[in-house]
Amino acid sequence: KGEAFKPCLEVLEVLTNAGYDAFLVGGAVRNKLLGLPVSDFDLATSAKPAEVVQLFDKVIPTGLEHGTVTVMYLGEAFEVTTFREDKKYTDFRHPSGVSYLGSIEGDLARRDFTINSMALSKEGDLIDLHGGQKDLSCKLIRTVGNPADRFKEDALRMLRAIRFLSKLVFSLDTKTEEALTENAHLLKHVAIERLQTEFSKLMEGKAVNLALKQLVFCRVHHYLPGLSQMASTLTKDVDLSLLETDSERWAWLSSHADQPVSFLKEWRLSNNSIKQAEHLITVSLEVQREGWNNRTVYDALPDAKACERLLAVMEQRNPNLTEIDRITSKLPITSRAMLVVTGDDLISWEQSKPGPWVGEALRGIELAVITEKIKNEKSSIRRWLKQWRTQ
Ligand code: ATP
Ligand code: MG
Repeated sequence: KGEAFKPCLEVLEVLTNAGYDAFLVGGAVRNKLLGLPVSDFDLATSAKPAEVVQLFDKVIPTGLEHGTVTVMYLGEAFEVTTFREDKKYTDFRHPSGVSYLGSIEGDLARRDFTINSMALSKEGDLIDLHGGQKDLSCKLIRTVGNPADRFKEDALRMLRAIRFLSKLVFSLDTKTEEALTENAHLLKHVAIERLQTEFSKLMEGKAVNLALKQLVFCRVHHYLPGLSQMASTLTKDVDLSLLETDSERWAWLSSHADQPVSFLKEWRLSNNSIKQAEHLITVSLEVQREGWNNRTVYDALPDAKACERLLAVMEQRNPNLTEIDRITSKLPITSRAMLVVTGDDLISWEQSKPGPWVGEALRGIELAVITEKIKNEKSSIRRWLKQWRTQ
């Protein structure tokens, strides 16, 4: 995604020209001050959702219950949320409702961390009521207000604290850390889907190893699915930042569970992500037995490099991606579709009924081709098939 500051300024201008207050808030302000890329633009405004809808051509009602709409402007999406405060929290995760506010102050006070509680006007004036800039410069994650109270309101904030630590390579402020340790058990009230989102981001951070140590230090792992017995894995000195994708990270983590698939199900990963992680683990175990060769690379494609990174982390060495490239570039085919024959060819050659034999034959043919026992040519494949059918 491109940096859309110009369209962002124009959206702010439309709102302020209509007489409302409007600011860029949250992660965008934080990242901008840190000189990091800004991926999503959250705006806060005094305009009510219905009023925002009136001002723009394309508005999607993405979170009306929290006062949020998505404004599409010059091809970019802007999350526009009416200034609000959360009503009383009763169950460690959900406010009993929200009420709209006329000014930004209360809206900034409801936010989780000081570094996330700043607002920027279109003129470039920074509103920093909770010491966000100071904490940015000291690299500290500190809650807005009393940490124990804020964690009791919404326990997910404890995991968010550690994911920001991971992403930004920051530390926890001492009081925040104490309250986190004390209240970690409240995480069991939080929906797994929300935990999963934050945990994925935590594993993606630059300081993932530090973050996992912090997680164990604060005893948070006891209240996350499948992690309570994994303290030694989580604190191991392996370089997890070598892993590049979500699937690699979840594969690494789940490979330390007794039942990787049940572990991933517990975390509510999608069936597709589970399949992907399972594939990476299966291939890695195979490669551990027989090394990288034409067959293991072929079977791993298009994830051979992901498997190699996973293996490298498991074996505490550097990934050898050049070796994967070397083998891949010599493979006669890189997918079954590249065979010059199809199942239909085999059926007509053999004048036989379709059945499981077709798939078995195709697998045999592709193995023979990639291990260079036969050429990917109709005549040699036909010869191979004749022999295979008579044995
Ligand atoms: P990222 O760049 O990773 O998206 P972000 O700061 O934008 O980081 P989001 O989860 O997108 O994080 O949340 C946007 C903003 O909303 C935060 O910066 C924070 O001000 C506020 N916020 C989000 N979740 C909470 C929460 N659980 N409690 C309080 N404030 C929150
Ligand atoms: Mg965000």
